Amino acid sequence: MKSSIKTNQRVQFIDITDRVREAIKESQISRGIVNIFVPHTTAAITINENSDPSVIEDMTKWLAHLVPENAGFKHSEGNSDAHIKASIVGSSVTVPFDENGPQLGIWQGVYFCEFDGPRIRNVIIRVSQT
Ligand code: ZN
Repeated sequence: MKSSIKTNQRVQFIDITDRVREAIKESQISRGIVNIFVPHTTAAITINENSDPSVIEDMTKWLAHLVPENAGFKHSEGNSDAHIKASIVGSSVTVPFDENGPQLGIWQGVYFCEFDGPRIRNVIIRVSQT
């Protein structure tokens, strides 16, 4: 399934775990893997803590520290920092699931990561039986 996400900041992490759960439910597959893929070059997908929001704050702050927005990049679009952050974080994750849903750890959530928003984005969630 293709899912649309509207971001409203330049850099923003959005918890999409519920969408992943929904896609698994809709598939009516009881056991397998779910792949969550972002078809964009300035956005990413990651799994991290969804309990303490400071973790996401720290991650966005340190990604900005590692890759400053204006560091004399060549790319004329002016968003090279977003391209680099997207590659550091990665464009997909795969999670096993069973009849209880995704087998994430108690503190884990699946995040869509915007690095050049605000925009309307797509996420592809593919559920497979294994
Ligand atoms: Zn660009």
